[in-house]
Amino acid sequence: MALEVAFVGVSSAHPGDGEESTCFLVNDNILVDVGFNAGISVQALGVSPLDIDHVFITHCHHDHVIGLPGVLFLSSKRADARADVGPLQLYGPQDLAVVTQAALAMLQADRFPQVVPDHEVHLLYPEQSLEIGELRVDVGRAFHPLDARSYRFTDTVSKGSVVITGDTAYHEGLAEFAKDCDVLIHEAAAPPAAATVNQQFLHSRPQDAARVAQESSTSSLALVHYQADQAAAMLSRAREGFPNTRIARKGQRVKILGPGQAAWV
Ligand SMILES: [Zn+2]
Ligand SMILES: [Zn+2]
Repeated sequence: MALEVAFVGVSSAHPGDGEESTCFLVNDNILVDVGFNAGISVQALGVSPLDIDHVFITHCHHDHVIGLPGVLFLSSKRADARADVGPLQLYGPQDLAVVTQAALAMLQADRFPQVVPDHEVHLLYPEQSLEIGELRVDVGRAFHPLDARSYRFTDTVSKGSVVITGDTAYHEGLAEFAKDCDVLIHEAAAPPAAATVNQQFLHSRPQDAARVAQESSTSSLALVHYQADQAAAMLSRAREGFPNTRIARKGQRVKILGPGQAAWV
C-alpha cells in the first residue's frame, strides 16, 4: 500500500461552519490528532471510525484532542465489527495520559464500560520510532508552549515519507527531522504579517513553514491549521520562500508513491 494522507480538517482552533480543526488520516487507519468532530468527519472521506486502529496525538491543546470522547465512543463496537482486531492504540506526549482519563470520565466509563473500546496508551518521546506493519513512525520535537511532538511516517517499501509538524514555531531541528521528505504538512497558524515568532503562542507563519521546507529539501509543502480568510495571503507569502507550496483543503488526499512522487486528489 502506498503511503496516503487524508486531510480530515485543516482549520485553526476555532473552526467555522463546515470546517474541522486540523487532523489527518494516514493510510485510512491511523488518525493523527482528534478534531472537534473527527469521528464523524472521517466518514466524509469514506472511512468508518471502526477502521481506526491507531491515534497519534501531536499535543494536548484542545483543538487537537477535543473529539477524543467521540472517537472512543464510535470505536466501541470495533471488536464486534472486526474479528481480528486488537486494542485501539493511543500514542502521544505525556499529557495524553491525563486527557485519556478525562475522555473516559466524559464517557462515564465506570458506569458504561460498553461505550469504550479496549485501548492502550503509549507515551512517545523525541527520537523514538516504531513500526506499524510496513510503516515506520519517527517521533520528533515541536516548539510549542506545552509538551508536543512532530511525526514522520515512512513507507519502508516505497521509501516515500510525510512529516506532520503539529503546532510548532520554527526551530532548526525541525528541518533536520523533515530532511528530504516528500510532503511536509506544516502548520501556519500565525498570520503572515506577524513581525516575529510570538513567544506566548509559538506558532509558525507561512514564511517560517517555507523556511523549514527549503532547509529540509522537502519535495512539497502543504499548509494546514489556518484561518480560511488568510489562505490567499499565506500561500503567496510561503511561495516566496518555497515555490512548491499548496494550501491543503479539507477532504483532500495525497498519495505518495515513492520518493518525489506525490499525487493530490
Ligand atoms: Zn492547534
Ligand atoms: Zn497547539
